[in-house]
Amino acid sequence: LTLLGIESSCDDTAAAVVRHVPGAAPQILASVVEGQTALHAAFGGVVPEIAARAHAERIDHCIEAALAQAGLPLTALDGIAVTAGPGLIGGVLSGVMCAKGLAAATGLPLIGVNHLAGHALTPRLTDMVDFPYIMLLVSGGHCQFLRVDGPADFTRLGGSIDDAPGEAFDKVAKILGLPQPGGPAVQAEAAQGDARRIPLPRPLLDRPGCDMSFSGLKTAVLRARDGLMAGLGGLRQQDRADLCAGFQRAVADVLTEKSRRALLDSGVAHFAVAGGVAANTEIRSRLLALCEGLGVSFLAPPLALCTDNAAMIAWAGIEQFRQRGADDLTLSARPRWPLDQKSPALLGSGK
Ligand code: ATP
Ligand code: FE
Repeated sequence: LTLLGIESSCDDTAAAVVRHVPGAAPQILASVVEGQTALHAAFGGVVPEIAARAHAERIDHCIEAALAQAGLPLTALDGIAVTAGPGLIGGVLSGVMCAKGLAAATGLPLIGVNHLAGHALTPRLTDMVDFPYIMLLVSGGHCQFLRVDGPADFTRLGGSIDDAPGEAFDKVAKILGLPQPGGPAVQAEAAQGDARRIPLPRPLLDRPGCDMSFSGLKTAVLRARDGLMAGLGGLRQQDRADLCAGFQRAVADVLTEKSRRALLDSGVAHFAVAGGVAANTEIRSRLLALCEGLGVSFLAPPLALCTDNAAMIAWAGIEQFRQRGADDLTLSARPRWPLDQKSPALLGSGK
């Protein structure tokens, strides 16, 4: 099967072509991502209106570029997979309308994919891991543990009850006067710091289950900063580095301990991470050490496939098309779509 994937649910417009022959490794024939960071930079966050317009303007070009990269005409494909939610509704609509138009014009099957299912199935695209596995999705917008038992069989084991860790990294960077995105900046500072000097909380660490909380940690960094700055004109270089190191250690401690619980409670033998925060070297090495200690395989897809992209949507489309067939042209865009709910096709028909 060879599918086109289309992604436009947040601030990246993306198209990709993925081919899979059963028994062989899946092949990414093309993957194009056009980010919008520069468009939103002046506003300190993604502006839905601007994002929707940019998606509408760029999506055709992204698809053309992906087909050119793959060296295939649209008619050589076996189907079109598109993110049908969750996300900013204007962007999701751009993708869904475009995919429906292409499907109507070519007669190709249309497959509506949940964006989070795309992230969650990526370890099968990159490492051909067998079900079941545990997935930790940690990004700027998401933080959850999933147990993945099939192409559309996800169980949420827990997650952040407030901020996602990436959001916390970004806010801490802001508090400490570091540039955005905060993750890489905080990580670089932390390398010069002493993680044990300034005590910071690890919220919910000893509660049972896999729920986490990061907003109190961010507030604790703010208070510690104010304490360290008291009487001084600003924050000393070493204090900033120590705060970054302490914060990063606290996040790593929480993610590692909750991952241990997810693995021990489920007894599952494979563990995968995705999302921008999985790029953090301390977090990654702690999770790797945890898995080695438990005799569990650790899968960390390359960063370009951990963050938003369309190859994961094409791949999820392939897996789900094989399992349940296509959607029809009534496919709708859904701003909210919890992963443990069924796909739009299954919902409608009661299958
Ligand atoms: P989503 O796709 O879930 O809606 P997003 O687009 O913000 O959210 P990603 O692109 O996966 O998510 O990740 C971006 C986040 O990852 C940012 O918050 C960024 O600070 C964080 N991040 C990137 N690199 C690192 C790092 N080395 N350490 C910690 N955090 C990092
Ligand atoms: Fe995402």
